Amino acid sequence: MSERIGFIGLGNMGRPMAGQLVAKGFATSVFDLSEAPMEILRQKGATRAAGIPAVIANSDVIVTMLPNTPDVQGVVLGEGGLLATGRPGMLHIDMSTIDPLASKAMAAALAEKGIGWVDAGVGRSPAHADRGESSFMVGATDADLARARPVLAAMGNAIIHCGGPGAGISMKIVLNFMSMATCQITAETLALGTKLGLKMTDMNAVISAGLACNEHFRQYWPTKVLAGDTTPGFAIDLAFKDLSIAVATAAAAGVPVITGSAAREAMGIARSVHGLGKEDITAVLVAASRNAGVQTPRL
Ligand code: NAD
Repeated sequence: MSERIGFIGLGNMGRPMAGQLVAKGFATSVFDLSEAPMEILRQKGATRAAGIPAVIANSDVIVTMLPNTPDVQGVVLGEGGLLATGRPGMLHIDMSTIDPLASKAMAAALAEKGIGWVDAGVGRSPAHADRGESSFMVGATDADLARARPVLAAMGNAIIHCGGPGAGISMKIVLNFMSMATCQITAETLALGTKLGLKMTDMNAVISAGLACNEHFRQYWPTKVLAGDTTPGFAIDLAFKDLSIAVATAAAAGVPVITGSAAREAMGIARSVHGLGKEDITAVLVAASRNAGVQTPRL
């Protein structure tokens, strides 16, 4: 019989990922602070749990897909959490993008209790998650990954083992550092070009054909802000969170990240001055265009 899964955090990513587990036959109990996604998953065959202690009591493997470090720490270290109420032999798979040092510390605390840990940073978008095509950057012992592999394989089609606990989330932070800073420079590029009187169609033709192009601009932006849609696939608030983790992690490691720090400041302005935190990451173009005093360009 397959392991019983307890899935906590049913947002843009967690809801479709939990849906994949249910569709592939895992007995899955789910919990979120919000009612609506729990009800959607119940209708697909999941069990709605009353709270985090109930998820832990009824599961062998806990999966978390939560916004930020304190949310995961609440599940692991909080009252009624995994450290307090979990059983030796359980496994925690954390897929949230959080602070790598905190991730390692939780892994060590759980190991003392005989509970395994896998940090599985997730790549790609909610649309990929919906198709069971996420990618995973994994930090875990070989034994813990072997146990987690069928669960991850039910939700994704690429698993890269980056090293021991903490290595997967370190890789994810490095990836998102590059990814989010790239979005910011793309936005400033297009705002500058627009201010200089260039047409978006011409900029698209030139940039798409050159080495400076990036896959955000090539694949994703034409479906989002450049089509006038900034409903969140990945919100600016989450991008700001990831850049903040990256900048703090770099400071702790003694690594200067000058461009990334500037990108973080720019995203802070997109949130606090322009009120765009809940909008899609591509709305950094809206902020850059307002800063430049131009209309947000569209394709
Ligand atoms: P989201 O904000 O859409 O969803 C988070 C969910 O967690 C919400 O439904 C919220 O109600 C729930 N939640 C918050 N605190 C909770 C708690 N204590 N107990 C139970 N539920 C709680 O976020 P998302 O886009 O699904 O992202 C989740 C994580 O995955 C983040 O760390 C994000 O950085 C990362 N991530 C997102 C993407 C993406 O494209 N959206 C891709 C890869 C990784």
